[in-house]
Amino acid sequence: MKIRFLLIFIYFICSLSFTYGQSRKIIYIPDIPGYKTLKCDFHMHTVFSDGTVWPTVRVNEAWRDGLDAISITDHIEYRPHSKDIVSDHNRSYEIAEPLADNLNILLIKGAEITRSMPPGHLNCLFIKNANLLERENVMDAIREARDQGAFILWNHPGWKAQQPDTTLWWDQHTELLNKDLLHGIEVFNEKEYYPEAIDWAVGKKLTMFSNSDVHSPVSMLYDTDNSTRPLTLVFSRSRTKGGIREALFSRRTAAFFNNTLAGPAELLEALFFASVKLNNPQGPLKNGETKYITIENNSDIEYQLELVQPGIGFDVTENTVLRAHRVTALELRGNSEQVASNGELKIYYKVNNALVSSDANLIITLRISNN
Ligand code: ZN
Repeated sequence: MKIRFLLIFIYFICSLSFTYGQSRKIIYIPDIPGYKTLKCDFHMHTVFSDGTVWPTVRVNEAWRDGLDAISITDHIEYRPHSKDIVSDHNRSYEIAEPLADNLNILLIKGAEITRSMPPGHLNCLFIKNANLLERENVMDAIREARDQGAFILWNHPGWKAQQPDTTLWWDQHTELLNKDLLHGIEVFNEKEYYPEAIDWAVGKKLTMFSNSDVHSPVSMLYDTDNSTRPLTLVFSRSRTKGGIREALFSRRTAAFFNNTLAGPAELLEALFFASVKLNNPQGPLKNGETKYITIENNSDIEYQLELVQPGIGFDVTENTVLRAHRVTALELRGNSEQVASNGELKIYYKVNNALVSSDANLIITLRISNN
């Protein structure tokens, strides 16, 4: 008996050490037809520029927070720790890469060109040699990044330090756009939101991003246990760096932060319908009768719905929230004889936390079989 208790005790001690091991969060944001939905953050710093953490910490954080891909984008022109950290611009990537490979985090090689406005701060993703971006003339630096095959995005376009009064699009950005030197823009950065950026992304065909731009440990900036840090959702053909690059250049992203999505309508619509399962009521709805349909939301995104126009022959719940990992019931009530003759009931909702422009929301149509 004593041996048995000893074995149980040893087993208990061993399982404790597993319990206190690292664990990775699972983010429930579904794939959409034809594409994997990758959870990414393409803007962060380490001690190799003005951050306060070692590069491998960024990889550990990404793994723990459930991310698929990150880019460490240390500043080229701003390195306040350079007396203590003496190295070239490729070092943060080189240090982080073996751990990223080990933990299956896709580490995209990046750097941030850091200039006054215009053009401001630009992230260059998929570069090959960050040292070559150290150029006196900003256009030379950006051209060098592009020649290395980089995807280039404008960071925090409405950052108050650089755009104190209004968020402006400058002539130099038009020049960059015309010369194929600008491909994307941040809609969300750290905890800020730039509505203008959505309209520029739509009008000028730029890819939308939501990035943390974190300098401290992530846990000092966000409560990632109870919410998600800013995520750029990339709709990629494969979970590979090449897949991400193709998706970014094809503008297949959505920006997600603070339970708000911004992106192209067709992608947000696909994401909404991949997130929910609609259950039809039994039998057709008749005049004066009440029936319920249920919507199961299997994603981490809470969808806020507002009715756009009345149903034909029926009333339906006007405002509702599809809470994450819950089933929500919608009440349908027939209000004319017309309802029974409709084989399909269409309900049009505006999704208040899904933005397709600075002042327009995604509209979805729920189609209810009424036979
Ligand atoms: Zn930055």
